[in-house]
Amino acid sequence: MATMTKVTLKRKIAPRIANGHPWVFANEVQTIQGEVNPGDIVTVETHDAKYVGTGYINPQSQILVRILSRDRNEVINEAFFHKRIAKAWEYRQKIGYTENCRLIFGEADYMPALIIDKFNDYFVIQTLALGMDKWKAAMVDALNQIFKPKGIYERNDVPVRELEGLPQIKGFLSAPFNPQIVIQENGLKFHVDIENGQKTGYFLDQQDNRRQIRHIVKDADVLEAFCYTGTFSLHAGHYGAKSVLGLDISENAVAQARKNAGLNGLEEICKFEAVNAFDALKAWSKDGRQYDVVMLDPPAFTKSRENIQKAITGYKEINLRGLKLVKPGGFLVTASCTNLVPPDLFLEIIGMAAKDARRNLRQVTFRAQSSDHPIIWGMENTEYLKFLIVQVL
Ligand code: SAH
Repeated sequence: MATMTKVTLKRKIAPRIANGHPWVFANEVQTIQGEVNPGDIVTVETHDAKYVGTGYINPQSQILVRILSRDRNEVINEAFFHKRIAKAWEYRQKIGYTENCRLIFGEADYMPALIIDKFNDYFVIQTLALGMDKWKAAMVDALNQIFKPKGIYERNDVPVRELEGLPQIKGFLSAPFNPQIVIQENGLKFHVDIENGQKTGYFLDQQDNRRQIRHIVKDADVLEAFCYTGTFSLHAGHYGAKSVLGLDISENAVAQARKNAGLNGLEEICKFEAVNAFDALKAWSKDGRQYDVVMLDPPAFTKSRENIQKAITGYKEINLRGLKLVKPGGFLVTASCTNLVPPDLFLEIIGMAAKDARRNLRQVTFRAQSSDHPIIWGMENTEYLKFLIVQVL
């Protein structure tokens, strides 16, 4: 093998990366020795020639190198990816996941820019950086060997790929199959459209949180905004709600939610409407409508730190409107899915909304994403989802 290209870090940068952060930005590099072929494996060293890690390089990306291994003797080849996927699956099983889980959660599995969702016998892959994309065939081989899946699908129709010089694409990575699959979760069934659904088709990151509403929805009139395919609404129906109304702006999502209600025999209890939740919640609180439980799981509102104020305003507004619709003694279930709003800021926003609504809150639970999306301490962007239940007094 030819000698590997060597990337030497600036003196000040080395500690962050040596302490476990996997990203090396272009302006953090002092020198590069050897050829730079986009996507190649390189060695990263400190300014005084101490080994830091082995990773993949892409000069077109703002993140020049992403580190894959901290073991100088580890060779990055097909067997490496097989071993990493097997290990990630072992961990998920260890903490109790059997059918559905995020099998690979990028950086949290030391596989930067790789997402693999397991929907029982079906797998959905996203390779979001060039250096990972190059190993797609190795991932597919590993999945075939470890799981003997019924199908593998690529959802690389994601804009961030363009920052890496990669095209947006989607399609089968196995023999073609019907991409409208059905999964089971907490005793319910859900249609998942892995070809045209949002992200990988289904939000596995709320799978543990959906069980948290079990007791508070019993005999309740429930309103859910941002319901997507009705996952929380149907859990509410399943756990004994009297009535459930789910809202989403996407006609497709609402159609799928109605199908999911039918699949679970809950079409009498759970109704869905395609509307803008901001408008509906505003109008209904003016009309004096009241619910026992209001659930909110809005989108990120912003993707960049510069627009963080936009996200804060959005979260505050929707939670204020939601709070006004809760009967005294009822419950607000509220979430935020962007790592740009850290947990303490999220709580602060809900606090401001409660103050404006002149309501007091009693906290029932405050959680993060489900455990199949591990949080690595020190790697901020692995902690992204906030999930809060409060009693609204
Ligand atoms: N709770 C869902 C995920 C919600 S994702 C689950 O666990 O499966 C956020 C949803 O908000 C998306 O389905 C999107 O279509 C919807 N959405 C975005 N803006 C909206 C708006 N203004 N009004 C209603 N829904 C909206």
